[in-house]
Amino acid sequence: MSDVFSYESFLGERRREVLERVARAAARAGRDASEVEAIAVSKTVGPEEVLLAKRAGWSAFGENRPQELVRKLEALSGEPDMAGARFDMIGNLQKNKINQVIGRAALIHSVSSAHLAEAISSRCVARGIVADVLLEVNVSGEATKSGLSPDEARTGAEGIAALPGIRVLGLMTMAPARDADAARRTFSGLRELAAELRGRTGLALPTLSCGMSDDFEVAVEEGSTLIRLGRCVFDQGYALSR
Ligand SMILES: *Cc1c(COP(=O)(O)O)cnc(C)c1O
Repeated sequence: MSDVFSYESFLGERRREVLERVARAAARAGRDASEVEAIAVSKTVGPEEVLLAKRAGWSAFGENRPQELVRKLEALSGEPDMAGARFDMIGNLQKNKINQVIGRAALIHSVSSAHLAEAISSRCVARGIVADVLLEVNVSGEATKSGLSPDEARTGAEGIAALPGIRVLGLMTMAPARDADAARRTFSGLRELAAELRGRTGLALPTLSCGMSDDFEVAVEEGSTLIRLGRCVFDQGYALSR
């Protein structure tokens, strides 16, 4: 980041281009672009870049490590230009890090097991707070991905949602990399699973967190309401496809 002004203008131009693509993808699917929120995944940049991104219009950020989330919140606390910003926890969460995250992350996207949900629940109850969470589902079935299997979600979602101290707002998934067809199947699978769970349980599950830099347009076409964008927001070397 040799030149703060040109990086800030890059952030603003890139943001406009990304949001334009979101709007076009939504229109292709007959959706209203206002149904789709984009968060800027700031895991590869420092607090200074987060502040510039906020000034460029991003207001929700995603971090995948609890320590980084805490570090950025502390570094930016009291910064007037960060008013109204939020940080979400999007990455793998270990039980011994839960206390760092609850009360700080606005939304935990990565509740990947019933055990983790129970642990978050008990810690929130002890602190007298309620955490908004998403259930991470391994829709693609890749062995390298974490998350509940779709069947575990079918059998477990209602019990998890009934736990005190957490509010289950929806589902999250990650698609296989570099395979647009597999990504589409993954995102449509998430949408269908959410519909099935709504029918089965009466849970509203309004939020579907899916889509990253390489596949957010497909995700929007398939019903995503929350896309998580890292490289395409912050990386000047990242070329948007097409
Ligand atoms: C890093 C990360 C992202 C953003 O990925 P990009 O490809 O850089 O957009 C989204 N979600 C999760 C869980 C991540 O870890």
